Amino acid sequence: MTPTGLSTGVSTTAKRTVLVSGASIAGPALAYWLHRSGCAVTVVEKAGALRDGGYPIDVRGTAVEVVRRMGILPQLQDAHIDSRRCTFLDPDGSEVASLSPRAVAGGVEGQDLEVRRGDLAAILYALVRDDVEFLFGDSIDTLDQSGQGVDVTFHSGQQRTFDLVVGADGMHSRTRETLFGPEEQFHRYLGYCFAIFTMPNSFGLSHEVMVWNTPGKAAALYAVGDSDELHAFLTFHQPQPPFDALRDPDAQRDLVASVFAGAGWEVPAMVNTMRDADDLFFDTAGQIRMPHWSSGRVALVGDAAYAPSFLTGQGSSLALVGAYMLANGIATNRDHSSAFAAYERDTREFVAMNQALVDNGAATLFPTTARALEQRNTMLRDLVTLPSATARPAHSALRLPEFAPLR
Ligand SMILES: Cc1cc2nc3c(=O)[nH]c(=O)nc-3n(C[C@H](O)[C@H](O)[C@H](O)COP(=O)(O)OP(=O)(O)OC[C@H]3O[C@@H](n4cnc5c(N)ncnc54)[C@H](O)[C@@H]3O)c2cc1C
Repeated sequence: MTPTGLSTGVSTTAKRTVLVSGASIAGPALAYWLHRSGCAVTVVEKAGALRDGGYPIDVRGTAVEVVRRMGILPQLQDAHIDSRRCTFLDPDGSEVASLSPRAVAGGVEGQDLEVRRGDLAAILYALVRDDVEFLFGDSIDTLDQSGQGVDVTFHSGQQRTFDLVVGADGMHSRTRETLFGPEEQFHRYLGYCFAIFTMPNSFGLSHEVMVWNTPGKAAALYAVGDSDELHAFLTFHQPQPPFDALRDPDAQRDLVASVFAGAGWEVPAMVNTMRDADDLFFDTAGQIRMPHWSSGRVALVGDAAYAPSFLTGQGSSLALVGAYMLANGIATNRDHSSAFAAYERDTREFVAMNQALVDNGAATLFPTTARALEQRNTMLRDLVTLPSATARPAHSALRLPEFAPLR
């Protein structure tokens, strides 16, 4: 399917076969571009179906150009959430500042997009599902590169050989672990944990985000449109990652409840809802930083290779841009080593600039001391009176090459 009406660029030589692990954002986006370049693509996803849910995500700068070239910009514009207000609150719930979400996040009105994560995943999946093989409810058990390709044994027991394999399996990538070893070596912990879940919109919130802070703690309620459901978000500073809690949902609930005990505003109601939430998602805020994104015939893309953390708001944009750049590397190089080298060479600086957003400002949304919180509040009050924000340079720092597969 080529919605922009361009040639698929299908090669006259035998089709290269590529297995992609993970069907969220990076996986289906990569599958689209690889299919466009004439590869036969299989996507394997551990979950039994496409995964819905998650906080709204942003598509900004260079990533907007990627989705335009994919022909899905109009659909994403229709799905655009259009949050109108972001209100910051004191510990007692009184208002500190109320401003445009774009002023806070550095997005550009009329260009950048904010969509439900599930909507973006569904639009990408719909774009490729007729052209790409999807294996839901399965995963890669072993990878063996000793032969001419990559011999893959799936969890289901199926065995197949592919020319290339790509891990698009997220921050805690199994593909990365198989290839490069434990996550700890590549994980840069940013000092925060967070819990996300949904709760009833009994507050009458509409098209807006409310953010409550005390030093080291924040609670947010996110109303997407006029939905009767809110996205609730609790985040807190924790100097060391709570490794035990990461594997134990009950310990996660206990940890969050103890951290937020005695907090003001609507936090007690949020904590109560979290106790029984069946969609609780708990994790640490962290980045993945790797010296190389490939080994032999296997490469990584998106969060698996360079998760930037929610503090940057750039996870999905990096996944979309990374998918385009990796596919372009494969499409323009017959040899996989050259393909992966080109992908790294042309994408790494963009990734680094976006990951660096946590070092120069993004984390100040959640200050850990009273003094830093007061400084942040002053900055927010100043933002209210400033003209609307301009884009952060990192969002648009990469000029996409033309997608020109070899013939
Ligand atoms: C359900 C869900 C909710 C999310 N909610 C938020 C949110 O609220 N805020 C936020 O900033 N980011 C969220 N994210 C992460 C966000 O989507 C990514 O940061 C970003 O879009 C980059 O996407 P990605 O495709 O690289 O990785 P991800 O979106 O993490 O996708 C990885 C995919 O790989 C699959 N997978 C994992 N392991 C295996 C395996 N062994 N074999 C096969 N498949 C595997 C996962 O099920 C998932 O579909 C969420 C992701 C998911 C899957």
